[in-house]
Amino acid sequence: MDRVRVFTAAQIRTMDPGRPTASAVAVADGRIVSVGSLESMDPWLRRVDHDIDDTYAQQVLMPGLIDPHTHLRMSGTYMGLEYVGPIPCQGPAGVVQGLDDRDAALARLSELVAASDDPSRPIITWGYDPGTQAGHLDRDMLDQISDTVPIWVLSYAPHIVYTNTPMIELIGVTEDTVAHGLGRYPDGRLNGWFIETGAVGMATAPVRADVYRPGFGIEALERQGKVAVRNGITTTADMIWGFDSFEGEWDDHQQVIDGGGFPLRVLLVPFDSRLVRKFGDDRLEFLRTMSERSTDRLAAHGVKFVNDGSYPSMTLKLNFPGYLDGEEGLTGEVPWNEMVEAMWPYWDAGVQIHSHANGDETVDMTLDTLAALQLRKPRFDHRFTIEHYCISRVDQCRRLAALGAMASVNPYFVHYRSLLHSDSGFGPDRAEATARLGSLERAGAMFTLHSDYNLVVGPMAPLTAAWVAVNRLAADGETVMAPGERISVDRALRAITTDAAHVLRRDHEVGSLEVGKLADFVVLGDDPYEVDPAGLHRVPVVGTVLGGEPHEADG
Ligand SMILES: [Zn+2]
Repeated sequence: MDRVRVFTAAQIRTMDPGRPTASAVAVADGRIVSVGSLESMDPWLRRVDHDIDDTYAQQVLMPGLIDPHTHLRMSGTYMGLEYVGPIPCQGPAGVVQGLDDRDAALARLSELVAASDDPSRPIITWGYDPGTQAGHLDRDMLDQISDTVPIWVLSYAPHIVYTNTPMIELIGVTEDTVAHGLGRYPDGRLNGWFIETGAVGMATAPVRADVYRPGFGIEALERQGKVAVRNGITTTADMIWGFDSFEGEWDDHQQVIDGGGFPLRVLLVPFDSRLVRKFGDDRLEFLRTMSERSTDRLAAHGVKFVNDGSYPSMTLKLNFPGYLDGEEGLTGEVPWNEMVEAMWPYWDAGVQIHSHANGDETVDMTLDTLAALQLRKPRFDHRFTIEHYCISRVDQCRRLAALGAMASVNPYFVHYRSLLHSDSGFGPDRAEATARLGSLERAGAMFTLHSDYNLVVGPMAPLTAAWVAVNRLAADGETVMAPGERISVDRALRAITTDAAHVLRRDHEVGSLEVGKLADFVVLGDDPYEVDPAGLHRVPVVGTVLGGEPHEADG
């Protein structure tokens, strides 16, 4: 250790419960040498040359925030397109404001058509959200914008492409085409919808070269890096590694890291069904090889299973009495009765399992599966994690804790969508009790908060996630959804720092400011422990520090 850099701050919240506050943190070689005060670290400062850095003397430092479930490369790709969605979003040239409703989205599409200088070139857009922008788009509506220029609109959660007649012709579909996922009007005519993976792929073929330009993955990650700094995030896990290409995705991450300036540590969590398809019986060997290549900047981690649909698209699996209007929901690629065998090789090898379950029926199946795995080979500290955990019961929270499992919860829906789904999809009881964090806490379960950015409509903003968890204020700004499921500010801040690190098995490296850990901080304009909890989401993020290197939030 040649030289130490000492950051001073108005306040440092270490998230180390034994030594919760400090006023200085000393860093060398990207790691923390000491946390305390200039006086307390004097034994180090007398022995090692040092610089005192007062840049953050008026600010508050905390451990860099962790979003343990994102899809940055995949969704950052769409973020390069023209945006017609409901909330502000990072675009190629900066933040683009949201459009309130369908009329505003149609008006934006008209502008884009008017500005186009080549009528044969499709207008390619993304971000439309039928849930919050007052209903779906369709072919007739888009034909009114233009019946000559092809229009292509990808929904925010990329489950639907909306098209007009010229675009349908470009895709090559006719009224006689028989294919899964083609939407039709009640009279049987094509309505311009292409729904779910297969049909979305079909609709994307003619615009593929524009959506997936050379270097699109790099551009996507660089764009997302800016969003991460602006929201104080220094570590994330991409939960669908291999969806596109194991090598391509790894290489893109490695390239932006090698280029310098990329402000994130990334864990890539491979998607089981792609692992099985690509590597078959060699998949554990592949994971071992990638573990050996892993560094503290880019690492292979665990395995991911997807076992039902999504909350905003109302495709999760619900127990009795089911959906208000009788929908059934979707399961994933692995049949539920084969789940124990599908998870067994990973369980047996000690690979951490992240299992997506949004609805209570899926949570039951997941806990049954974990119980069967435990019976076959009991394990401690396995950190089996249920991802999303949107709709659950109190007894499931207790059983989850009893089985040693953890929950990585998406809390944003409580604010953004739970009122909406009270009378659409899930009904009042399940909508109100979305994201049962209070029950998880009372059950003694470990949990973290995530965004799933950018595959569901919401920001990647851990302080907003914490604000939702603490206040549970619905979108109307008045209704408190299931007040007994609120948690304290301290617990919520742990859930985006040290507890998130634990869920990702990185708590020896990140998540709190302790001697020996990586020097990752978020720089805040206020102390989240001191502000009114109703304003937690408004605590300004000034920037981040990753391994001792500052990154400034832009705008
Ligand atoms: Zn996800």
